[in-house]
Amino acid sequence: MIGNAKKIIDWLYDQDKTKEFEIKEYKEKRNKDQNAKYWKLLSQLSLKLRIGVEDLHFQMLRFYSPRYEILVPADKEIRGIDYCEKKSKITKNGNEFNVYHVYTPSHELTTNEFSILLEGLCEECKKQGIETLSPDELRELNSKGGIGMKTKRSKATDISMSVKKKVFERDGGRCVVCGNDYNVMPNAHYIPRSKGGLGIEQNIVTLCTELTENQCHRKYDFGTANERKIIGEKIKEHLKRKYPDWNEEDLVYKKWSD
Ligand SMILES: [Zn+2]
Repeated sequence: MIGNAKKIIDWLYDQDKTKEFEIKEYKEKRNKDQNAKYWKLLSQLSLKLRIGVEDLHFQMLRFYSPRYEILVPADKEIRGIDYCEKKSKITKNGNEFNVYHVYTPSHELTTNEFSILLEGLCEECKKQGIETLSPDELRELNSKGGIGMKTKRSKATDISMSVKKKVFERDGGRCVVCGNDYNVMPNAHYIPRSKGGLGIEQNIVTLCTELTENQCHRKYDFGTANERKIIGEKIKEHLKRKYPDWNEEDLVYKKWSD
């Protein structure tokens, strides 16, 4: 069965007390065809080039996945981000920072973004004489909704790269809660995805990451009720200032809006 904790507990109460159960978090199905094709081609290319699959995957993300830059104080290590690399050093207000490029992991890509990654991989394969998909086959695979056995709701709550860029610019590259201007990312939902919060600029803000002392994003998601409340109010004020007719009801996925 699939359901939230309460539904499952109610159901479990009625079960035979001697039986054993295993509980796993339910994940929506992705477009198996598109994903499978990607990993199959990647392993073929990996054999041909004699480069490990993981390394090759990182190379692909570097070229074909949306990226953004974050600043990390020079004396701090970057943690918890899978695909990133140090690009340069800068000095800001007398402090030294490393500039990192962060690449979006494939499971976070939107339909279109994944199509670009897959097309890029096909190009690389062709150069090595590996048989790939024809443009028509590729189009058909990608138009199946792309990563897109993803539900409509799930797609609607994704944040596209263009929204991230707009939000980052709108917020002046600062955390909208504490004003911090490094280790920030434009990827926080005001109304969370779990409640159907849309990936639109009116619902997305820049917050500082776990790498900072304030950790506004982490606190907003996992902090105490009081922390979440205070941060939520600040985000709300910020968004209201930016959008005169901002309305919380417009930020939530509605079935009938398809
Ligand atoms: Zn902050």
